[in-house]
Amino acid sequence: MSMPHVRTLACTLCGAEYDPEQVVYTCPEHDGLAGILEVVYDYDVIAESFDVDLDGNIRSQWKYEAFLPVDEEAEVVSLGEGGTDLFDAPNLSESLGVDVLVKDDGRNPTGCFKDRASSIAVTKARHAGRDVITCASTGNAAASLAGYSARGGLDCRIFVPGEAPPEKLAQPLVYGADVLAVEGTYDEAYDLCVEVTESYGWYNRNAAINPFQVEGKRTVGHELAEQTRREVPDWVVFSMGDGCTIAGAWKGFREFHELGYVEEVPRMLGVQAEGAAAIHDAFHDHADADAVAETVADSIAVGRPRNTVKACRALEESDGTSVLVSDEEILDAEARLGRTEGIYAEPAGAAPVAGVERALAEGVIEPDETVVVAVTGFGLKDSESARAAAGDATSIAPDIEAVRSRYEPDETGGTRV
Ligand SMILES: *Cc1c(COP(=O)(O)O)cnc(C)c1O
Ligand SMILES: [Zn+2]
Repeated sequence: MSMPHVRTLACTLCGAEYDPEQVVYTCPEHDGLAGILEVVYDYDVIAESFDVDLDGNIRSQWKYEAFLPVDEEAEVVSLGEGGTDLFDAPNLSESLGVDVLVKDDGRNPTGCFKDRASSIAVTKARHAGRDVITCASTGNAAASLAGYSARGGLDCRIFVPGEAPPEKLAQPLVYGADVLAVEGTYDEAYDLCVEVTESYGWYNRNAAINPFQVEGKRTVGHELAEQTRREVPDWVVFSMGDGCTIAGAWKGFREFHELGYVEEVPRMLGVQAEGAAAIHDAFHDHADADAVAETVADSIAVGRPRNTVKACRALEESDGTSVLVSDEEILDAEARLGRTEGIYAEPAGAAPVAGVERALAEGVIEPDETVVVAVTGFGLKDSESARAAAGDATSIAPDIEAVRSRYEPDETGGTRV
């Protein structure tokens, strides 16, 4: 095994260091899983092998392979993840009253940005000769891991809350995974998955405890840095569940800044649902809230986030902040994104749009600033929420008169349906 560019795994709480070649998930010096590890790189080694060609042409996240914690010899398991478009969004900008661009990460191979991390998980697990891989998920990480496991020939066993949207249970089944629908919440599914990992020694992909998974999520930050190099936005907005994504995105952008590839960094805005607000509460020093998670945005319905420390650090270091949005605002944002720009997001993917609106209202974002919203998941993942956002189809008789009465109510004397 050889990862000369990975220096060490450092505990985010006590600084203790661990050998990156061993499978360690968290620092044993702390209760439970609190001792999250951070991958520390040797940037001199990275800079030597990275071909700095930041022309905005990004075929996949493996353009940044020099930054990724995989063995040089490993055979990459890929479905073409990353390299997603950064769209201008004139209609949405007008509707919101601020200049926004949309990073459309819902267009990854399984419909979610988590493919960036799954590709690395399966590549690493296979290279290490592991044949069973597992994770707990609100739905998308499971579907993603299942797809990449199929691609890489691994046996995938996943734990999801039984109440996940049916599409999110069907997708990993099609990919051939063992889908264990836990009769309980995501938090309970997570605890069970960790216990199983400990008893059976399966490879655990969970981003919050497997220190390498956040590292894949950095590539969305690398891409944003490359795509906005000429005009870095004032804000980059992500929704937050466990908090790994915003932490990874920030780390990626920051690395490119520290290496001098981009002159500025954005401020990070994290968005949570009012019913699942633990990171927001921690960041704003609110009293310990209950570990409840009630929101239509199932992908961020996390009562006890596993990566609060890294997420808050990303907000702090970038001089950013967080806001909360209601379910109604999230569904409104989903419809608005679809109507204005033809971009179909699941609720958690649309939440950043609602977050921008909230941040403008609260004076956090100024109308003359520029904003990138990250759409993290595709709308077909959850059609029930989509119908709640956009309403139902109009039923009509198979008859031209029915059409006429809808579009020419005056001439026919009919009523509008
Ligand atoms: C997982 C997920 C998130 C949240 O990511 P965290 O790393 O848990 O903060 C946001 N949006 C979508 C669509 C997701 O699947
Ligand atoms: Zn420690």
